[in-house]
Amino acid sequence: MIERPATVRVKEGLHARPATQFVKLARSFASSLEVRRGARGADAKSSVKLMLLGLKEGEDVTVRADGADAEVAVEALVSFIETPEAGAELGGAAPTLPAGAPSGMAAAPPGGRAAAGVAASEGTAIGLAFGFFPETLAAPRRALSPAAIDGEVEVLRRAFAATVAALVDRGAKPEAAPQDRQIIDALIEVAGDDELVGAIDARVRGGQDAVTATLEAGARLAARFEAIDGDYLRARAEDVRGLVRTLALTLLGRSDANLADPPAGSILVAGEISAWEFARLPLARLAGIVCASGAATSHVAIMARTHGIPAVLGSGASLAALAAARTIALDGTTGEVWLDPDAATEASIRDRIAAEERERDGLDAYRARKPVTRDGRSIEVAANLGSLGEIAPALAAGAMGVGLFRTELLFMERKTLPSEDEQAAIYDELARAFAPHPVIVRTLDIGGDKPVAGIEVGHEENPFLGWRGVRLCLDRPDVFKPQLKALLRAAVHGNIKIMVPMITETGEVLRVKALLAECRAELDAAGVAIGDPDLGIMMETPAAALLAADLARHVAFFSIGTNDLSQYVMAADRLNPRVAGLNRADHPAVLRAVALICEAARARGIPVGLCGEAAARPDLIPLFLRMGVTELSMSPAAILRARKAVIETDLEISPA
Ligand code: PEP
Ligand code: MG
Repeated sequence: MIERPATVRVKEGLHARPATQFVKLARSFASSLEVRRGARGADAKSSVKLMLLGLKEGEDVTVRADGADAEVAVEALVSFIETPEAGAELGGAAPTLPAGAPSGMAAAPPGGRAAAGVAASEGTAIGLAFGFFPETLAAPRRALSPAAIDGEVEVLRRAFAATVAALVDRGAKPEAAPQDRQIIDALIEVAGDDELVGAIDARVRGGQDAVTATLEAGARLAARFEAIDGDYLRARAEDVRGLVRTLALTLLGRSDANLADPPAGSILVAGEISAWEFARLPLARLAGIVCASGAATSHVAIMARTHGIPAVLGSGASLAALAAARTIALDGTTGEVWLDPDAATEASIRDRIAAEERERDGLDAYRARKPVTRDGRSIEVAANLGSLGEIAPALAAGAMGVGLFRTELLFMERKTLPSEDEQAAIYDELARAFAPHPVIVRTLDIGGDKPVAGIEVGHEENPFLGWRGVRLCLDRPDVFKPQLKALLRAAVHGNIKIMVPMITETGEVLRVKALLAECRAELDAAGVAIGDPDLGIMMETPAAALLAADLARHVAFFSIGTNDLSQYVMAADRLNPRVAGLNRADHPAVLRAVALICEAARARGIPVGLCGEAAARPDLIPLFLRMGVTELSMSPAAILRARKAVIETDLEISPA
């Protein structure tokens, strides 16, 4: 049994409507649930009993749960009780907007409780909620008779085989993206590792039932990973837990039916979802994703964008409200979420979806038209990529090359650093796929928030202000030089450009140049053919913007990273949904920094690209082009819309 104290914050207490919703939420859990006030208690699954208890705002209560999903049930019920707007009249409650949210979010249609989160993957969707709130699995602790042990070992062996076969199957599905396959491969490896298999097997041979052995040995192994001082290995604990859960479910003859089988067109709603769980989802059946936690640059957000599924993460709605909703609508472009929208809201959301479809159809015409402004200035519209699997969609979308290849995505999810040869093969394929258009490859931009095997960043109080990007690379020539060499080799195709992230001072550029010269000399001495790629830098820190005129003297091009530039100029963490309203590329302070950078590039006569998310915004594109931006780079899905915005811009006409 689990119990937790809580204070009733629901406005005016648990009267009829909130009580009904509270009970609906309670009934979605298997555990028996009780709410106690002093000596009196009420079954949380009976609205009459609950109302008779007469809970008022400000009163202290205790929530008790007994059963398999007790933990998550208590958490959901307590969070409901402590949410002032919980159970409010549809359309009557103020939306739970984070402070300073952009006005677009506040303009949610009335009718349907709205919340705002982080816009993680664009597009609007509505559908039945498909909740993923997995129950806690309890160990049955059955003692085996000696005669039963061999049979149990065989049961365990078959469960392992079935789990691995299911993973192989999932990885072979045509809809699995390369990132998914990497995660699946990692899991198959864990499933074959004696550290796990051996430990479970030994427990069963010692007389423990297979489920208990699996759960306990798995928990131990996960805890060992968690105790390791290294982000990447710590993150593997998640893999172990995911795998152990699947094994235990297989042994119990159950499955997280939730994840295996969402009805077509449903909206996945979860507290959080790991990359591991995400990789198991039949994504083609999902219309959208809403999670209580997560942010725009989390793994799940990147995967949702790769698969073109609208997503809002770090949603402003409480876990309880999410779990209680039947129908969910979301706009992954603005971050809006509506729980159980009423008929009028639903109609306005369906209008948005229809408008998006019409827009997509209408944009097809721009595939064949060159992105040239009305007054005749040619603009490169390129793609932001993170894997080779995205080459085909980028080409299909009309990408004129690659404005940003995020190489850190190649390094994440691997157990070892990719070698110089492996990297050279990847950059080579990229260069050939887009030739003669330029392919700008960004050198590793990892830091405390992105774990990569073989690079221990350790704990940092402020990872975004820490050992990140070029700072880390310059300190780790053993990591940086193989990447630079691989890029020099791929540059024989003539269209590779090297771009360095997180530059804050000229000295860093000079040190990169010195390392590049060293790499050139070593490759020359070994008789390896190399090219002569341009070297450019990301302009994404306030320091770089202020020093732009000096930096421009040392590099061949700039590319403005508005994602980081916004977070650093505005001092607003890009992963924190609470300050998302401040983290805006269209804030006057950020736009002034962009203008400074463009002016320095123009004065020196070097090209200036823009590869942050803002590059895809048709409302900002004319402004950026007027400032002097010469190239826009974005996720492939946004390319045609950007081409249209460029074609419709006339730089000779000043905006009203
Ligand atoms: C940026 O900061 O704008 C950018 C493009 O890089 P990333 O989002 O990978 O930090
Ligand atoms: Mg950046």
